[in-house]
Amino acid sequence: MIDVRGGAAAEAGPRLLTGSPIAAEIRAGLTEDFARFKERWGHSPTLAVVLVGADAPSAVYLQQILRTCQKVGVEGRLVEIGSDVTPDALCTEIERLNADPSVAGIIVQMPLPAHIPLRAVIDSIDPAKDIDGIHPRNAGLLSLGYDGFLPATAQASVEILKRSGIEIAGKRVVVVGRSNVVGKPAALLLIREHGTVTVLHSKTRDLGHHTRDAEILIVAAGRPGLVTGDMLSPGVVVVDVGINVVPDGEGAEKLVGDVDFESAKGVVSAITPVPGGVGPLTNALLLSHLFRAATDQAERAARRTATGVRP
Ligand code: NAP
Repeated sequence: MIDVRGGAAAEAGPRLLTGSPIAAEIRAGLTEDFARFKERWGHSPTLAVVLVGADAPSAVYLQQILRTCQKVGVEGRLVEIGSDVTPDALCTEIERLNADPSVAGIIVQMPLPAHIPLRAVIDSIDPAKDIDGIHPRNAGLLSLGYDGFLPATAQASVEILKRSGIEIAGKRVVVVGRSNVVGKPAALLLIREHGTVTVLHSKTRDLGHHTRDAEILIVAAGRPGLVTGDMLSPGVVVVDVGINVVPDGEGAEKLVGDVDFESAKGVVSAITPVPGGVGPLTNALLLSHLFRAATDQAERAARRTATGVRP
C-alpha cells in the first residue's frame, strides 16, 4: 500500500534516498577486496575507459570514475581517441584492450560520434570484460534472469531502493524510459524483484495517467523536469536517474534530474536527489563488477597455467 504521509512528516519533507553513504560502504568493502586481490595475484587490475572525441560531460563523468578507481586501489586507464577515428580503428583499439591481460574491465563512454555504428563497438568488447553490461551476451543473460554483468546505472536505480529498505515485490512500478543502458535493464531487474512493471517512453500517450498509478516510479528520460508533482500520487517513492545540465539563472549551470523536485517534494514519501542519488552508487557498483571480472580472469588464467587446458 502507498504510505501517505501527513502532518509533521509531510512538513519535514520527503525521505531523501542518497547514494553517497551506500556507495561509501561498497567502496570500503572493495578497497579490502582489491588489497586482497593484489596480495593473491601480485597486481592491481586495470579498468580501461575509452573516450571517443572531446565530449565535455563525458570527460567529467570519466574523471569521476578514475577518481573512484584511485580510492579503491584500481588502476584507471583513460584511452582517449580522436572523434575522426574510423569504426574499424576503434574496434581494433578495443580488441587490443580485450587481449591485454592487465585490463580486467572496459567501458566505452556513450554517446559515440554519429559515424560510428554502436552495434559494431558493443560487439567488439569481450563479454568477460564488459563490466557495464552492454554486450549482447550480458544483455541476453539479464533478460533470461541469469548472472551476467549488469548495466551499472540500471542496477543502481534498483539497488538504492533495496538498500533503503523499500519493498519492491508486488508493487506497481513504473519506469519512464526504455534505453538499452538504463530504462530497459532497470525494468528487467524490477521484474526480477517481483515488481508489477510498466514501461513508458516518448510515444506513450498521457504520461501522467501512468505515472500517477505508480507506487514506485523510476525516471530515466534525460528530460529536465519532465515529471511534475501533479503527475504523482501521494506517497510514491521516486528514483530520478536523469542527469541534465541546465542554466542556473545566474549565468552558471547546474545539474537537475528528470523530476521537478520542487513540485514533487510535497507529494512523494521518498525521492533520490540529483545530484547525490543514483549517480554515486553507479560508480561503486561498476567497480564491484570490475572486481568480479578481475577475479574470474585471474582464476581462469591460473587454471590454464596449471592444466595447460583453455577453460
Ligand atoms: P536515452 O538513451 O536518451 O533514453 C531516454 C529514454 O527516455 C528513451 O527511451 C525515450 O523514449 C524516453 N523519453 C524521452 N523523452 C520522453 C518523454 N517526453 N516522455 C516519455 N519518455 C521519454 O537516455 P539514457 O541513456 O537512458 O539516460 C537517461 C537519463 O539518465 C539521462 O538524463 C542520463 O544523463 C541519465 N544517466 C544517469 C546516469 C547515472 O549514473 N545517474 C548514468 C547514465 C545516464 P524513446 O525510446 O521512445 O525515444
